Amino acid sequence: MKKLVWIVLITLGIIRIVGWQLERVLNRVDRSVKLPMVHAKARKLHFSTPVVDCHNDTLLFERNFVRRSSIGHIDLPRAKIGGVNLLAFAVATLIPFGFNKDQTNSALPDVLRWFYATRFSPMTLMTPHERAVYQAGRLHRLIRASQGGLRPVLRRSDLDQIAGGSAIGALLGFEGAQAVGSKVENIELLFALGYRVAGLTHFHDNRYAHSAHGLSRGGLTPAGIQLVQRCNELNMLIDVAHLSPLGIDDVLRLSRSPVIASHTGIRGQIDNNRNLTNHHVQEIISGGGVVGIGFWAETCGSNRPEAIVDTIEYAVTHFGEDGVALGSDFDGTITPSFDISQLPVLTQIMLDRGWAETLIRKILGGNALRLLHEVLPP
Ligand SMILES: [Zn+2]
Repeated sequence: MKKLVWIVLITLGIIRIVGWQLERVLNRVDRSVKLPMVHAKARKLHFSTPVVDCHNDTLLFERNFVRRSSIGHIDLPRAKIGGVNLLAFAVATLIPFGFNKDQTNSALPDVLRWFYATRFSPMTLMTPHERAVYQAGRLHRLIRASQGGLRPVLRRSDLDQIAGGSAIGALLGFEGAQAVGSKVENIELLFALGYRVAGLTHFHDNRYAHSAHGLSRGGLTPAGIQLVQRCNELNMLIDVAHLSPLGIDDVLRLSRSPVIASHTGIRGQIDNNRNLTNHHVQEIISGGGVVGIGFWAETCGSNRPEAIVDTIEYAVTHFGEDGVALGSDFDGTITPSFDISQLPVLTQIMLDRGWAETLIRKILGGNALRLLHEVLPP
């Protein structure tokens, strides 16, 4: 019996150590890219602006977010150095084996089962909904451990606190409505646990909506239509990143509130299945919504910071300056050329291009905050 306990403990220890090492590979920073020097004017502008990053996946990894790490793209000390005021934490709850942006089969085994196995929380092995519940608790524990460094963003007044204060706001969302589980009513439980962003799909089709990367590319299901209505009533922000084109049409037709595409590129500039069509970007922005530009090669054509600013420039030129934001996807198994502590490089490049400070402030955070002010519970 004693021997068996030892075997189990050693196995669990190995799983955890391998998990930590795996992140070194999955969330690398490409240090071969030369970044521009950030000068005093850009620093002043950046650090006097409320900065919002609309998407990260860091909760998927076991690393202690409150402590500075040399692994991954984001943690609290690095976010402070990068001058960030609000972070949107997305919770991934299920990713089928062999997932890819063109054809992901939801019937294949779940890759995240392994990730959640390292958490020693048996409930997370049960369902995506249980994982969403677990991650809300985990963010809550991180907020407590941060001793005032992080604070939850649950309603509009929280946005005013983070804009002027030293704490970084933490906005919680799920990536894929499988997190809701089998009943639409579960959304109320997730709301009560602090979820404020509802990403309808991730890589696979779920019972509420079809993914842009799934097999059938349908729109919302009847349950998905109910979910959109319930999110509107609860003042939850709907995220259409990863949603199929027909699904986005459905959401734009049904939603009474403006929506976000939290981390994306634009097909008119970089044409692939991960990115939104110009038509959808236009519709999202003209409806008062926001599009967060991702920081990796699939969205911007390259991971260089200049390429990110090229995509932002394309969006501003074609769709106006009021709907473009930052949506890094840090710690989302991408390979950016900088981590969150180096975010001011984007401000430097935008200034170098002669952009007005008012425009730069909108992109860094003004547009995202305006949307959150409109949609979150009063
Ligand atoms: Zn994503």
